[in-house]
Amino acid sequence: MTVFVLATHNAHKLEELRRILGDRLGPHQLVGYDGPDAVEDADSFEGNALIKARAAAIFTGLPAIADDSGICVDALDGQPGIHSARYAGTGDDGDNLRLLLRNMEGRKDRAARFVCAAALVDVAALDSGTPFEHTERGVWPGSLLETPAGSGGFGYDPIFRPEGLDVSAAELTPAQKDADSHRGRAFGLLVAVLRARYG
Ligand code: IMP
Repeated sequence: MTVFVLATHNAHKLEELRRILGDRLGPHQLVGYDGPDAVEDADSFEGNALIKARAAAIFTGLPAIADDSGICVDALDGQPGIHSARYAGTGDDGDNLRLLLRNMEGRKDRAARFVCAAALVDVAALDSGTPFEHTERGVWPGSLLETPAGSGGFGYDPIFRPEGLDVSAAELTPAQKDADSHRGRAFGLLVAVLRARYG
């Protein structure tokens, strides 16, 4: 049995990740992280996920799991992307969503996708002299609605309509969202790597 630390301070994401990882971790355990935050200054989702996982792994000595995610909008050249959490500059999900709707006013091309990079870092396990590091990416394609719908989920969920569905992500049950979402996909792939490595 191995104990993993989950390097996130976002309560919504922690809840989703615990749900997604739950049963799939087999004999392993997941603990929360309350150490110092790392500066997420990479220019990719993968880079930022690795920064968070490395910080938690170094601080705790435990193998660490982290993610970095956001919404990428075609008509805005992929923005807000890695800046999704601080798009409006206030740290408020509602402000971010309203700013995105405003920036999309009058746009016909509403294609968008949620992206999640999931990282696993083990500083105790040296492979060829370097810590073990691995990332996986999950993508959830869809489009942006013109008005928010639904009260579930968090962040941009009320204005994101997943491809193939007629409802927003905020109208899905947690289980429906986990089965398809960018985070569900990325962590599904990462758990397979984790289980191959730690049993
Ligand atoms: P992170 O905590 O740096 O990964 O930032 C993720 C940000 O992207 C969140 O604050 C949300 O604004 C947005 N985001 C990521 N995943 C989701 C999701 O599943 N639903 C809605 N918004 C999301």
